[in-house]
Amino acid sequence: MLTGLHHVTAICGPAQPNVDVYAGTLGLRLVKQTVNFDDPGTYHLYYADGPARPGSFLTFFPWPSDGLRGRVGAGQATATAYTVSPGALSEWIDRFAEAGIPTAVPTSRFGQNVLTVHDGDGLVIDLIEDEDASGQWADGLVPTSMALGAFHSVTLCSHNPDATLRVLTEAYGYQEHGQEGDRLRLVNPNADRARFVDIDVAPQPAGRMGIGTVHHVAFRAPDDDAELEARETLLSMGLQPTPQIDRQYFHSVYTREPGGILFEIATDPPGFTVDEPFETLGRALKLPAQYEPQRAAIEARLTPLELPY
Ligand code: ZN
Repeated sequence: MLTGLHHVTAICGPAQPNVDVYAGTLGLRLVKQTVNFDDPGTYHLYYADGPARPGSFLTFFPWPSDGLRGRVGAGQATATAYTVSPGALSEWIDRFAEAGIPTAVPTSRFGQNVLTVHDGDGLVIDLIEDEDASGQWADGLVPTSMALGAFHSVTLCSHNPDATLRVLTEAYGYQEHGQEGDRLRLVNPNADRARFVDIDVAPQPAGRMGIGTVHHVAFRAPDDDAELEARETLLSMGLQPTPQIDRQYFHSVYTREPGGILFEIATDPPGFTVDEPFETLGRALKLPAQYEPQRAAIEARLTPLELPY
């Protein structure tokens, strides 16, 4: 049984401006500085809510400033939504204006107020006022009353919405929840947060992976057994999930779903405190055991990060 969203991973430009926006302006907690395990000369940064809970992890692979710019479109998650407390959006509009980050006019979606912003690289972030917002970080740079909680949802733009819907309902534990315009909302009834996935059923031009786009979306498995059970379901549907891969902080299974979006399943354990204490999460560069012997060479290639808090 899968239990909602675990993390969203995107591609950004250089790391420091990303830290300034996400740990600075947005007030999230940087909970892990590590490297891309498939390319250890580059960072992999993880942001989260205060308790560092699955269902709030937004992670980035920083690319050089001259890296390929992506294009948001079909075959991707086109927006990632965080919860905020009801009434918080008016404060956010002021905060984004002070930071020089353009915002769209707030809209209403399924009865909830939504503010859409584009970070400096073009990634789309929605803030959604939600009674169930929780996990706000009291020690961040924004007051707790406006701080981001766990994810609300992601918006998926599929090359084949019907096929994506089928995979989400048969293998990832989702049910249809409602439709508003071109937005089909699904809910995972077994999730205690980060419960929703929206499918944009309007045809969109194909996206292109690069800076400012989501690389993949990961769904939560409470343990290895739940992950391997879901993997068997994917196999029975004719999909080609990877074997289980050790990602140090969770165990992963990746699948390219038939609508072109890369899905992952990630386990809750062991979690981010496996290699540093909860209180000091994200303060120092952590490397998995296989890269620790190369630490000096890896650190020489990375620019040290300055945290804004
Ligand atoms: Zn991932």
